[in-house]
Amino acid sequence: MERFDAIVIGAGAAGMFCAAQAGQAGLRVLLLDNGKKPGRKILMSGGGRCNFTNLYVEPAAYLSQNPHFCKSALARYTQWDFIDLVGKHGIAWHEKTLGQLFCDDSAEQIVKLLVDECTKGNVTMRLRSEVLSVERDEEGFSLQLNGETVTAKKLVIASGGLSMPGLGATPFGYKIAEQFGLNVLPTRAGLVPFTLHKPMLDVSQTISGVSVPSVISAEDGTVFRESLLFTHRGLSGPAVLQISSYWQPGEFVTINLLPDIDLAEFLDAQRADHPNQSLKNTLAMHLPKRLVECLQQLGQIPDVTLKQLNVRDQQTLVDTLTEWRVQPNGTEGYRTAEVTLGGVDTNELSSRTMEARKAPGLYFIGEVMDVTGWLGGYNFQWAWSSAWACAQALGD
Ligand code: FAD
Repeated sequence: MERFDAIVIGAGAAGMFCAAQAGQAGLRVLLLDNGKKPGRKILMSGGGRCNFTNLYVEPAAYLSQNPHFCKSALARYTQWDFIDLVGKHGIAWHEKTLGQLFCDDSAEQIVKLLVDECTKGNVTMRLRSEVLSVERDEEGFSLQLNGETVTAKKLVIASGGLSMPGLGATPFGYKIAEQFGLNVLPTRAGLVPFTLHKPMLDVSQTISGVSVPSVISAEDGTVFRESLLFTHRGLSGPAVLQISSYWQPGEFVTINLLPDIDLAEFLDAQRADHPNQSLKNTLAMHLPKRLVECLQQLGQIPDVTLKQLNVRDQQTLVDTLTEWRVQPNGTEGYRTAEVTLGGVDTNELSSRTMEARKAPGLYFIGEVMDVTGWLGGYNFQWAWSSAWACAQALGD
């Protein structure tokens, strides 16, 4: 039987960062993962370049039943702290858009950073490790692995959410929370593409791959201005991924497909100069031609010239294109979702240390808990901040 000061389950973003910090503070740390590689989601992230944080991190960019929970950790370990660490490891980065920071070269550099930090902290990392059971006694926690028992005073659950089961996601963290009597809030896929019903699905399939700037809003009033992508299954792109976290089944989303112009003014001006110009060609000056053709086939854009477009029809058209109401059929689910909403109820945890109030010595960090960020580096920042806050407390 091997004894450690702390055992961290999950060698993802949060688990590796926490283990490294605790190890560097002098603790004997064991880091376990069921996969054969650490940081598998990091490798996949940001199109292989890892959007590792965001310049504009703020609590308002996180969804949680308790919106105040994330404040303490985000304020104590900030995006600037992680940017500093990235700099110390000589990793070159750039801002892509909206404060999103990506590696110039590869997400592998962030995994290497974390592995090197773990090595610096003498962390024992065991991959392909299945945790069969977790027991608690007066000494701390005792874990049954395949063929051996390991024990520690402190146990950190960093096993992530349910998104992308192909990358090792399991409900392990929720089961441990329930075993220790903690409330787990219902989970659902977030940052995920929408699927559509016919006939909208036909439009999306026909123009699959077309992307347009958009302003998208959910029924709760949340609004994002980002690009929207038509796909074979429905709608995707940053705008849709963002709004999906605020969407509930059965609800509509409203999309402005022409956020950069005043459509009525534009049509009036064009009509004055080119009254015989077709409405289709006029709209194609600001929208992809294939999209205009599809909407025309669906009867949403009349087949007329500008001078034939009467005031009432023009208003209907403006409403259709700037307040396009879409009722998604559903989402693509955990298979393609970037994150999992819900999870371990933050009311069960200390916002300073991430320790479970009902089970001293047991901690939850990263995505396993009910804190979910926007698209754009916010989720990794939560992993770093929550892991750092926890690591500070593990030596107490
Ligand atoms: P994870 O990184 O998911 O790590 C959990 C670890 O626990 C995994 O290694 C898993 O193998 C292990 N594990 C699970 N169950 C067990 C078990 N039973 N026993 C042992 N080990 C177990 N966020 C951003 O901020 N920027 C991005 O660019 C970005 N891109 C993304 C791209 C994709 C394709 C996906 C899926 C997500 C992306 N995210 C991004 C979200 C981000 O990856 C997660 O929010 C973040 O990885 C959560 O960190 P975590 O450590 O809590 O969980």
